[in-house]
Amino acid sequence: MKKKTLSGYKACRQCKYIMPQDAKQCPNCGSEDFAGQWRGMIAVIDPEKSCLAKRLGLGKPGIYALELVEE
Ligand SMILES: [Zn+2]
Repeated sequence: MKKKTLSGYKACRQCKYIMPQDAKQCPNCGSEDFAGQWRGMIAVIDPEKSCLAKRLGLGKPGIYALELVEE
């Protein structure tokens, strides 16, 4: 069963940053390795003030996948 979590978006395999499908490179870590499916998302608005963002190593505000699904 294949189902995209959020159509038109993809997640970086390195840092799990979620970006539009047409992005060439991850704006967070510069990786070009992406996954089309994932489970769960976390929105990071202010990484400096978020304990969870610090724990997960999320340095840039944005939306991150919690777990990537291998295709
Ligand atoms: Zn990345």
